[in-house]
Amino acid sequence: MILSQKVSREGRLAACIVCGTKQVRAFLNLGRTALANKFLTQEECARPEPTFPLEVGFCTSCSHVQLMDHVPPSAMFTDYLYISSASDALAAHLVKLSDGVVGRFRLGPSDLVMDIGCNDGTLLKGFQRHGVKTLGVDPAVNLAPFTDASGIERFTGFFNSQTARHIVARWGKAAAITATNTFPHIPDLEDFIKGVRSALAPGGVFVIEAHYLQDLLEQGAFDTIYHEHVSYWALRPMQAAFERLGMHIVDVERIPFHHGQLRVFVQREGEGAVQPSVAGILEEEKDKGLDRFDIFQRFAERTYRLKEKLWKVLNDLLVRGKRLAGYGAPAKGNTLLSFLGMGPEVLKFIADRSPLKQGRYTPGTHVPVVPPERLLEDQPDYVLLLAWNFADEVLRQQDEYRRRGGRFILPFPEAKII
Ligand SMILES: [Zn+2]
Repeated sequence: MILSQKVSREGRLAACIVCGTKQVRAFLNLGRTALANKFLTQEECARPEPTFPLEVGFCTSCSHVQLMDHVPPSAMFTDYLYISSASDALAAHLVKLSDGVVGRFRLGPSDLVMDIGCNDGTLLKGFQRHGVKTLGVDPAVNLAPFTDASGIERFTGFFNSQTARHIVARWGKAAAITATNTFPHIPDLEDFIKGVRSALAPGGVFVIEAHYLQDLLEQGAFDTIYHEHVSYWALRPMQAAFERLGMHIVDVERIPFHHGQLRVFVQREGEGAVQPSVAGILEEEKDKGLDRFDIFQRFAERTYRLKEKLWKVLNDLLVRGKRLAGYGAPAKGNTLLSFLGMGPEVLKFIADRSPLKQGRYTPGTHVPVVPPERLLEDQPDYVLLLAWNFADEVLRQQDEYRRRGGRFILPFPEAKII
């Protein structure tokens, strides 16, 4: 994998990945952490584990918030333990997205929909119901059997301007390209956007869903920060990134999913009519100060305070002899565990529905991941909800645990026992 030229050989950011200036100032340091999706086998726990600096910066020239250090994508995405279908809410959300895109852009049987970062094909299965042609693009070799089983065509590899040429030659141009929770992963934005531009059919649309910086700030959700997420997107720098390369944002909406996301529709310049929503969100961002460094310094101070508060809540319970566990082993949970320095001495285990993670250990902190049934067998007194963005779904599923007296601890927006 060739790294972006904006990253020095050591992985330290040399220039802003959007505007190319050297104006990126660090504001939050979460220490060195292991890769958030690298859940370990028992044997791997005994071996030395690589860790990488996790620090976030703000570009004072274009306002783009980004990681100060990059890890080669091949180290993170070729063997991937997160599957979209593991969450009912996410699967339902993606099916709805496919309905919306097909309806709005009147896609038919001759149209190709390409999903970049297609994971296990959950979104493309939604598109398949409408009879359009589908192609999944994803470097995760271990997830290929999932799309194969659904009869979805797959290109296993990274998407960039070079692979886009190969894809177009074999499958043709796409009427719609989607990237849900993938766009923040891209270190070489310029090359990626060139690839998208060349792979779109005339009048085609690129649809992005990504966690939204404004929501991240409002909730204090620093756990969204981990090495896979090179970018923390606001609309303004995203607009700049596309406009530099002959594309423009035609529509945008905030969606209350995960912990708040931005859904963005992008087309080539000269195609599509720009909706008033774009100016609306840009204005909101200006009002909230998303273009000001001091807003991010304040976010960092709040993060350090949240760490103290959460430690205090957990420590008080431990002192009283309470037994603690965790629920949900999302990648973000590992930022939280690492930043708090919390291992199996605090959380006895973490329950998670994903069979790919069960039997493994959290990266860096080595807490065992077990099936959800363990909650009732073991009935710990308190459970830290690491997958807090799926709180409603988890609380519903674990109703019996709570009925028997178990309590959940929500870490965000501030530590709360429910
Ligand atoms: Zn910049």
